[in-house]
Amino acid sequence: MDISRSEEIFAHARQLVPGGVNSPVRAFSSVGGTPRFIERASGPFLYDVDGNEYVDLICSWGPMLLGHAHSEVIHAVGAAVAHGTSFGAPTEVEAKLAEAIIERTPVDQVRMVNSGTEATMTVIRLARGITGRDLIVKFAGCYHGHVDSLLVAAGSGVATLHGGEPSSPGVTAGTTADTLVVDYNDRAGLEAVFAEHGDRIAAVMAEASPGNMGVVPPSVVDGENFNAFCKRVCHAHGALFISDEVMTGFRVTRSGQFGLDGVEPDLMTFGKVMGGGFPAAAFGGRAEYMAHLSPVGGVYQAGTLAGNPVATTAGLKTLQLADDAVYERVDRAAEIVRGETGRALEEAGVPHVINSNGSMFSVFFTDQPVTDFASAQTTDTKRYAAFFHAMLDAGVHLPPSAFETWFCSSTHHDSVLDRITSALPAAARAAAA
Ligand code: PLP
Repeated sequence: MDISRSEEIFAHARQLVPGGVNSPVRAFSSVGGTPRFIERASGPFLYDVDGNEYVDLICSWGPMLLGHAHSEVIHAVGAAVAHGTSFGAPTEVEAKLAEAIIERTPVDQVRMVNSGTEATMTVIRLARGITGRDLIVKFAGCYHGHVDSLLVAAGSGVATLHGGEPSSPGVTAGTTADTLVVDYNDRAGLEAVFAEHGDRIAAVMAEASPGNMGVVPPSVVDGENFNAFCKRVCHAHGALFISDEVMTGFRVTRSGQFGLDGVEPDLMTFGKVMGGGFPAAAFGGRAEYMAHLSPVGGVYQAGTLAGNPVATTAGLKTLQLADDAVYERVDRAAEIVRGETGRALEEAGVPHVINSNGSMFSVFFTDQPVTDFASAQTTDTKRYAAFFHAMLDAGVHLPPSAFETWFCSSTHHDSVLDRITSALPAAARAAAA
């Protein structure tokens, strides 16, 4: 496979942009090699600047539920662009997108922002404003964007009870002092944190079903899902439960994780699919909570491009097109890729665990159950790198990191899936080596 043009651009881009990329994982740091510079995409395919075609199992890290360059989305966006790209004044399409989100999820109102990071940053400000409390609990291995106070080291036993340590230079200890970290799915750990700090905790924030340490679904104990447990504990102590549906929202079902477990959080965050491939995200909740937000209430939030007419048009069209048939196709594609990957790894004798939540799934190269960040980290990243590159050489683009979710779109039809299936045995043998 000729990748000389990607190599050239990468070398040049590294002079201009740290690591040559605008979001770290794109740089292939954990798998090695040269990231493919993409020129265009269509349906389930990416095309790089050297003219190579790849079946895309990243789907822009989630947003492209309908596949790339869906003709109706592109048409709607084109029409929106022709009318002007930003007004700094309200538009009807923002209200329509808000309505589409509210109709699908258990929120009464939403506020639009530009990224998932902004949504989570603002929702914790809102939770603190509503409760008048400072502390936020997050779970080790959950990622909520690069908000300073949520960039906290994944949970060692010490971090579990005594607050997190910043996981990035530049994040002050003061900022993260108000963040408590508990292991995911650790019910006793959450109860212990509440026993110690309960009257100071504003909210618990969880990925609705984590996908950022690879897929680690909420556990079910005595019929109670982990999200339901978190909400119950929060309410017993006057705290709010925030579900981060940036990744799961409008992807694992028409409404997101809520469609799978029915747990109604106090506040929610959305992004990815609802932006249709553009920078759009949102947070929402019950009207009484959202009334704390400016200009109605005192909790401040604003954005020059928030609710941008082009982005909201793309998001609205995407949600409108995401009917039952779309979800059936995405679920089926995911099921086939999961099954075939498992079979190939089995045949090659590679220890593995495949976790899934609806159509989100990921493969851990480990022989133990993966239920939290510590167990996710037992995955053999060298095996993943070998597997990843063998797939890439065969024209299948997996996420370039072992701790990510694999995503399918409704355009991953059988002929596309066959290409994945044929690439798997050699990749599994590479992982076995
Ligand atoms: N929350 C979750 C669950 C995410 O997966 C992400 C991004 O991957 C974010 C928040 C941050 O979103 P963004 O990258 O749009 O800032």
